[in-house]
Amino acid sequence: MDFKLSEEHELFRRTAREFAQKELEPRAKEFEDKHKIPKDVLQKLGELGYLGLAVPEAYGGVGADALSYAIVMEELSKACASTSTVVTVQNTLVEFPIVEFGTEAQKRKYLPKLATGEWFGAFALTEPESGSDAAGMKTTARREGDVYVLNGSKRFITNAAFARLFVVFALTAPEAGNRGVSCFLVERDTPGFTVGREEDKMGIRGTSTCELFFEDCRVPAENLLGEENKGFKIAMLTLDAGRIGIAAQALGIAEAAFDEALKYAQERTAFGQPLAAFQAIQFKLADMKAQIEAARWLVYHAAWKKDQGEDYILESSLAKLYASEVASRVADEAVQIHGGYGYIRDYKVERLYRDARITRIYEGTSEIQKLIIARQLLGRK
Ligand SMILES: Cc1cc2nc3c(=O)[nH]c(=O)nc-3n(C[C@H](O)[C@H](O)[C@H](O)COP(=O)(O)OP(=O)(O)OC[C@H]3O[C@@H](n4cnc5c(N)ncnc54)[C@H](O)[C@@H]3O)c2cc1C
Repeated sequence: MDFKLSEEHELFRRTAREFAQKELEPRAKEFEDKHKIPKDVLQKLGELGYLGLAVPEAYGGVGADALSYAIVMEELSKACASTSTVVTVQNTLVEFPIVEFGTEAQKRKYLPKLATGEWFGAFALTEPESGSDAAGMKTTARREGDVYVLNGSKRFITNAAFARLFVVFALTAPEAGNRGVSCFLVERDTPGFTVGREEDKMGIRGTSTCELFFEDCRVPAENLLGEENKGFKIAMLTLDAGRIGIAAQALGIAEAAFDEALKYAQERTAFGQPLAAFQAIQFKLADMKAQIEAARWLVYHAAWKKDQGEDYILESSLAKLYASEVASRVADEAVQIHGGYGYIRDYKVERLYRDARITRIYEGTSEIQKLIIARQLLGRK
């Protein structure tokens, strides 16, 4: 067993860290306050290849492995989780299903635009009345000649404010439940499709999260992704891959919170000595570090399994569940170590505390991760 990262992986880390520390860290608060990632940053993400990491080179991507992707996500998230959210949606929730299930024509048409950042994408599964129970969706797609007519709405869709392409799930056979779901590639300017209001969120405030509406939205039949009524499987496989990205995001947030706490504990004095001299604070730091290292190896292991071409459903859910819970706990302790200052927006831990929270919710809540893990353990796949 070799725990040492390859030269190539170390290079991905160095480059991502340098970019994140120089370009994201100083501006992360500005992104939050303006509720958007500025165009120049989005453009740089494209130039660095971070918007098409797993897209094969033949379609304009980097063709990197899952471990490289996890490392990039970790480093970007240490500086700005809003930015890394845009990156993870583009890579796993939008490009992954096109790479895996797209026709050659769909790949040629969309992947080069997405991989370079000319277009951004969004993934639309959740609806006002169905989240964890994704098959409970109400949006329908009725075939009429050479188009599908979509009706319904979606909720909480990341990147929606500026995305040009939406991976949308709808019922083509409503009576068949999850066996009646199909997946469509919907371009933003398709008549009958509108993007609704932005949500005002607790964290990742630099991202856009909107509602979507489909009113007799006529999508060309050639934009069906995969086979009709096989869309639910596409959604689930996409989320299995996506969880590695969210787990890496959580890991990065936890590491950043730890770094801030470690620094602060050595600078701040109380009762005539640095906070770090108190055993109670040392124990907090030790607990935080132990949890972060455990999370790190779960994340890297899940990515490694994917890179080996092995089944990684169990590992990606374990990593997502544990790393997201660790991010929340570590960020909470980091705020505590900062005392009152941890509650003030000028201090980074305040943002990390809020950003950590979403990792336990999106791409499957912690409860849903436990259901997936239990199903794997019990052999009920
Ligand atoms: C900022 C943000 C960005 C998002 N981005 C996207 C996106 O880009 N695309 C997209 O499609 N969705 C997105 N989502 C939606 C997100 O994935 C859902 O919110 C999440 O899956 C939970 O669904 P829900 O909100 O409907 O909660 P519910 O499913 O109603 O769950 C409520 C509570 O009940 C628990 N629960 C539900 N079922 C069970 C069960 N069987 N056993 C035990 N507990 C259960 C849940 O764990 C949770 O604690 C986003 C959400 C947010 C907040």
